[in-house]
Amino acid sequence: MPPTSGERITSIRGIKLPGSSAIWDIKVDFPSDSPQGRITSITPHDSITSSSADLPRSGSDKDTQTRTQTPLVLPSLVHPHIHLDKAFIHSEPQYEHLLPVSGSFHEALSFTAAAKELFTLPDLIKRGEWLLAESVCAGVTAMRAFVEVDHVVKLTCVEAAVTLKKKWSENCEIQIVCFAQDPIFSTEHAGQNLSYIEEALEKYSEIEVIGTTPYVETSVEKSKQNIEWAITRAMQLDKHVDFHLDYNLDEGKEALVWHVLHTLIRCGWNRQSTSRQIMLGHCTRLTLFTKEEWTQIAHLIKSNDLPVTFVGLPTSDLYMASPPPTSTSTSTTGQTRVRGTLPVPDLIRDHGLDAVIGVNNLGNAFTPWGTADPLFLACLGVGIYQSGTRADAELLYECVSTRARAAIGLGKDGSDCRSSVGLRVVEDQCPNLVLFYDRDMSKCGVSRPQRSVADIVWNPPSFSSRDVVFEGRMKKNF
Ligand SMILES: [Zn+2]
Repeated sequence: MPPTSGERITSIRGIKLPGSSAIWDIKVDFPSDSPQGRITSITPHDSITSSSADLPRSGSDKDTQTRTQTPLVLPSLVHPHIHLDKAFIHSEPQYEHLLPVSGSFHEALSFTAAAKELFTLPDLIKRGEWLLAESVCAGVTAMRAFVEVDHVVKLTCVEAAVTLKKKWSENCEIQIVCFAQDPIFSTEHAGQNLSYIEEALEKYSEIEVIGTTPYVETSVEKSKQNIEWAITRAMQLDKHVDFHLDYNLDEGKEALVWHVLHTLIRCGWNRQSTSRQIMLGHCTRLTLFTKEEWTQIAHLIKSNDLPVTFVGLPTSDLYMASPPPTSTSTSTTGQTRVRGTLPVPDLIRDHGLDAVIGVNNLGNAFTPWGTADPLFLACLGVGIYQSGTRADAELLYECVSTRARAAIGLGKDGSDCRSSVGLRVVEDQCPNLVLFYDRDMSKCGVSRPQRSVADIVWNPPSFSSRDVVFEGRMKKNF
């Protein structure tokens, strides 16, 4: 069950903001024609007319601890890519016989296919709520949620997503992806799978994104047909497109990213023609690209004004993406098993591309490990990308916050989504925020201060040290 709707806030007083050592007050107003609040002013803290924090309060000891602190306030967190229907399969006893044995990619495909045959609406809603509850507690206020549609699950996963979207609408904005994990142009079930996808798109106006997996088709030609269909259909229906693409580390395989970009150009999909966006997920094959190839990718995207974002999915990529075994490899010992995940900070800084980081899967055969906390990913990124500076930490936070929000097309008031990236909290924004406190969770009478974005990314605080503001309503975790 979602938390009850939080109290409307009129101000948050005595706070720290990123990039400033001063203390600030934020005022929030609710326009009469909108349920969403707006930040109307950000001014230096007025300690005369206010004590410390003008937050909803009950007068308890907890509130006293909260009021005497100066929280760091940052934009809220976002899941740009997460599978709602496959979350926490491993936590449900009915799927116990499908726990990983070899841990291989093919086993994950077959065990997940078997699990899907057992999916029911109540089960999907229960596991989906586990994911939503943990995400919302972490500070997530928007997510792109993938749900599968095919001849096995039919429309059940979409139905669950639509139910959860409504039920959790006062806590999180859920953007639904109608997702073809299975082939739609090859294998005996292709026709049925595609027909269920079309039925879902026809029936549910809540679907905002068409997602497919070109690499599961049985030939490169069919994969290209899959790409062309998704782009063409999304243009006709005015949807975003999200591909699971080039998920391998095999130089012998053709990278299909080129076909995606050339198809977009041929179809005239650019930032002038539509506000809908393209997301390319995994893309581990691209880690084998030369600098010249990346330069060429960046040139194609920028010169044609393509609204393309890459999403690295490191917990899945590091678990699953490894090169094909060779006769000389020692992959069975695990000593030379190279892993690969998109170098997200380099794509942004060196090539000027849009790139973000997502959780992808949780608690299933594709990714048995990880948490629903996007800050865990940002923290992981410090090690994966060797990104140890304060500026690196700020960029990683953006990748699970404002950049992720822009990437899924949730820009500010329909303006250019890219103008909303960065960590600045500014006037006229809808207040989607996380307040980070130095709470004494140890009960030892001490609490280590977390003064900066880097402190938050390097060592993410517990959920109990975070309060969340969604559209101007406060949800307290403590
Ligand atoms: Zn995925």
